[in-house]
Amino acid sequence: MTTYKNKSKRRAKAPAKAIKKNTDKAKPPFRIIPLGGMKEIGKNCTLIECCGEILIIDCGFAFPEYEMFGIDVVIPDFTYIKENRERVKGLIITHGHEDHIGAIPYLLQEVSVPIYASPLAMGLIDHKLEENYLTGETHVIKPGDRFNVGCFTVEAIQTNHSIADALAYSIKFPGGHVVHTGDFKIDYSPLDGRVIDLNRFSQLGDQGVDVLLCDSTNVMRKGYTPSEAVVRRSIDEIFDNTDRRIIIATFASNVHRIKYFIEASMKHNRRIAVSGRSMENVLALSKSLGYLDDIPESVFINVNEAKNYADSKITIITTGSQGEPMSALTRMAYDNHKAIKLKKNDVVVFSSSPIPGNEKVISQVVNRLYEKEVDVVLASAMDVHVSGHASSEELKLIHTLLRPKYFVPAHGEYRHLVEHARLSQSLGQSKDNIFILGNGDALEVCGNRTHVERSYTSGEDVMVDGYDIGDVGSVVLKDRKKLSQSGLITISVALDQATGSLMAEPILNTRGFVFVEEHMDLIREAINVVYNTIGKSTSAGALDEASLSRAIKSDMKSFIYSTTKKNPMIIPVILYV
Ligand SMILES: [Zn+2]
Ligand SMILES: [Zn+2]
Repeated sequence: MTTYKNKSKRRAKAPAKAIKKNTDKAKPPFRIIPLGGMKEIGKNCTLIECCGEILIIDCGFAFPEYEMFGIDVVIPDFTYIKENRERVKGLIITHGHEDHIGAIPYLLQEVSVPIYASPLAMGLIDHKLEENYLTGETHVIKPGDRFNVGCFTVEAIQTNHSIADALAYSIKFPGGHVVHTGDFKIDYSPLDGRVIDLNRFSQLGDQGVDVLLCDSTNVMRKGYTPSEAVVRRSIDEIFDNTDRRIIIATFASNVHRIKYFIEASMKHNRRIAVSGRSMENVLALSKSLGYLDDIPESVFINVNEAKNYADSKITIITTGSQGEPMSALTRMAYDNHKAIKLKKNDVVVFSSSPIPGNEKVISQVVNRLYEKEVDVVLASAMDVHVSGHASSEELKLIHTLLRPKYFVPAHGEYRHLVEHARLSQSLGQSKDNIFILGNGDALEVCGNRTHVERSYTSGEDVMVDGYDIGDVGSVVLKDRKKLSQSGLITISVALDQATGSLMAEPILNTRGFVFVEEHMDLIREAINVVYNTIGKSTSAGALDEASLSRAIKSDMKSFIYSTTKKNPMIIPVILYV
């Protein structure tokens, strides 16, 4: 009944659309500028610019690629934001995953901007700001909230994802109406019972959407992404069928799933021990936000007490599902965990799927677990994990509900963006109204006219090495690559300041090059090379530090290469005494 009423109401509003069309010409132009998250999965950050004001959506980091030696994280290039700092009105966050919030501390070091986020995301952001001694204006928002940020009227919409409190945004402003889905899936039976607000998406579609930015991660998967309820069934099956110790590794941020592990444990009279810093932090945060209100504190025990409980009476929830070297599960696998010693027939569940790039380290940990005769349960064999991103049929539903005028596929590698563009076309969207953008490109929309300005601003990766932001250039990376492949030789020589003659035997130190004890002959020969070089240079009168250093480096390089076919980094250290 109600649905029918709403429908007729919507129909009655139809003439308003015609009026709106006529005013299109008067609309001010706007720009959409992705700074990250296009042609990659990671460091999501998109700007909307209208009437001289800028709204930022998400501010994440990416993990470095394999070749980026020693780089901690990669963040978007904030140059455009810095140059236009007084025009930036706010930062709205879709959810608390690192690829959406990870770069916030780096942004806040450069510009101050009010942040709007859901409770869990804000809890995680607060923690980051505290760690970095930063403060800022923050606003906690809930689905259904509508608020103004400069000229932008923002509305938060409930979605489902692999973290609690994920939001999509409807953003209305003088130039138009943009909908950003954030990361989402359609889950009719999510663990917290809060189903994505499809009704609101449908209403927004009726109001008219100019641009849709939509998650492309799982566009290549046919059908529907299974519900979290599937994980619940698999976990029940494991708990029902074992009286062994159960150890579950999962993403700390998947609060609802962790809550289910706790509930399943309670049903089987098991106590819960939590191991791993990020898991403990998120659990403490979830408790303070009320997500675990119906869980009595008494079911938790300190991980050090775990050994006092029978195997059938304990569940351990741990970090390390990605094989991270210092994580609790990896330490258990390598016998380095202080409190937990793995036993034959312990059940270890990976409630996760490998993030691309982590496959190798995960399989190393899994092999270690097999060596310890632990029963390993992987998501590939049992449904102990489901994705948090919409598959193709779910994407089609969102496109159909919103019917956007223009479409920008987001959150995906290039192939995902192209496939998402094709999906949109298959639903009748005109090819001319689909825009595959790169980071730093700008889509300019003015009523019915559009223009893409390629490389409107920098969309480059900014590499963060510890606390040095952006100082790590390609030279440093090249050095690190060389070091990792061929190692390092330092040659220390002490020379008489007056005569230039050697005061002592040159000292060679190597790291990661050859095992010195087995190659003493090579080292002795190399020292002879240094003697020869210094003799040659002294007789030629080339005694200044720079030319001597160059000569030692060049002779050593050709000697090492001719004898070992290796090309280590060579650093001469010359001391005049
Ligand atoms: Zn996410
Ligand atoms: Zn994401």
